Amino acid sequence: MSEAVKVMDGLVVKMDYTLTVDGELVDTSEGSEPIEFIQGAGGIIPGLERELYGMAIGDGKDVVVPAAEGYGEVDEDAHMDVPRKEFPAEIPMEVGTMLELQDEHGHPMHATITEVGAETVHLDFNHPLAGKELHFSVKIAGLRPATAEELDHGHVHEEGHSH
Ligand code: ZN
Repeated sequence: MSEAVKVMDGLVVKMDYTLTVDGELVDTSEGSEPIEFIQGAGGIIPGLERELYGMAIGDGKDVVVPAAEGYGEVDEDAHMDVPRKEFPAEIPMEVGTMLELQDEHGHPMHATITEVGAETVHLDFNHPLAGKELHFSVKIAGLRPATAEELDHGHVHEEGHSH
């Protein structure tokens, strides 16, 4: 693929990134592999994806994403009491414990334990970064057309591996 290719819908983007929130490093691809996603498929935060159009391999950019276009505003209703007995024994019943759950469609969702009672545990389903302004620093590391199967699935496949 020539270097003239720019980020557009349907391309698999390989991207190095660093995420800083409130002046603190939250996440980075530094020291590991760049992330890969299909541009336009909603694989990354909308407020960041929108800013990538037109970037070429090697281009870098700093992007500030307001909470509403990042992990959303804090939803005060996204709380639930769950009976303690429904938790597997290996999960520590401590305030601040973060859980990775699945909704009824099998989509991953996060919850944080915010209270531990005698009978129930109070969960907050807001993403830990809800309500936060996100500061990304990104660099395009690679671009290639997505395969038909990848476009059909809406996500990137490892070479030789479909799922
Ligand atoms: Zn797939």
